[in-house]
Amino acid sequence: MTTTTVRKRAATGALLGLALGDALGFPTEFDDVPSILAKCGPWREMELPRRAFVSDDTQMTLAVARALRTAMDRGLLVPDRLEPPLREEFVDWYRSPENNRAPGRTCLTACDLLEDDGRLWQDAGQIGSKGCGANMRVAPLGLAPGLSDEQRAGAAQLQSGLTHGHPTALAASDLTAHAVRLLAEGAEPTGLVGLLRSYALDNRTRYHHRWLGDLWTRSQDPTPEHFIARGWDDCLGVLERLQEALRSPSPETDPCLATGEGWIAEEALATGLLCFLLFPDEPVTALRRAACSAGDSDSIACLAGAFAGAYAGSDAWPTEWADRIEHRSELVTLGALWDH
Ligand SMILES: [Mg+2]
Repeated sequence: MTTTTVRKRAATGALLGLALGDALGFPTEFDDVPSILAKCGPWREMELPRRAFVSDDTQMTLAVARALRTAMDRGLLVPDRLEPPLREEFVDWYRSPENNRAPGRTCLTACDLLEDDGRLWQDAGQIGSKGCGANMRVAPLGLAPGLSDEQRAGAAQLQSGLTHGHPTALAASDLTAHAVRLLAEGAEPTGLVGLLRSYALDNRTRYHHRWLGDLWTRSQDPTPEHFIARGWDDCLGVLERLQEALRSPSPETDPCLATGEGWIAEEALATGLLCFLLFPDEPVTALRRAACSAGDSDSIACLAGAFAGAYAGSDAWPTEWADRIEHRSELVTLGALWDH
């Protein structure tokens, strides 16, 4: 961990940011922009609900974070050490009475299958689903210190595969964790899209056998490289749309018009990034823009909050917001663990 990330407390900033974005966007998830404006007033003044409930996005991020902490407490992060606690945390989430925050269908289906210990995770993950459910929860992989690039990428893709086995869900999860990492380490927002594009090109035909096993054989692809390249190509396509959107920024219009509504993995990443990159030095405005969007507002704002918080650190968020976010104490504890 570099001095910069420790000083600004990037992990705490990102974890609080993703939960705040989630809570701000949760009430507007299924509304279009005119209805949100009618309900909440001008978007630049959107207030965090008094009782700041998070949705499945934060609940599942915490599940990934706890599993990662458990696995890393036991030794070097390897697939066999990560998969059991991940499966346990996902199933606990699935069974929890608190799992009533508009959970995604793919996660419910896969968790029901993961409950059977005898079933390989590769047979539980939905190979046809590239919903944003896997990358909305991946930020902890970009925040935990001491991981190699191979561990971060492999683990980001593995945690996706347990529920979302589509190559685009895997690639977008890897790319989301990488973006969080870059920002925590102090990458400049202006160069971010270029760095992400290079990363996608470098990894385009790299299938992580050690982490994914034979997952790819459940698809129709002729080779593992062909399988994973489909995912990276979707990501490269949306990064191009993002770059185009940033050439003529339009902060007052619905960000989903430029990079998509975010129900699918690569669009959630791009629209979350767009909201952050429109306001790199105004984290709260970035969250409000993301929450005031036509698409999957809580997931878009959750990702925008992770990026903004990783970049600016824990001071990004107003104390009166951070103090009342649901799960505050666990988020802060995890953040402190990874910021030191
Ligand atoms: Mg949600």
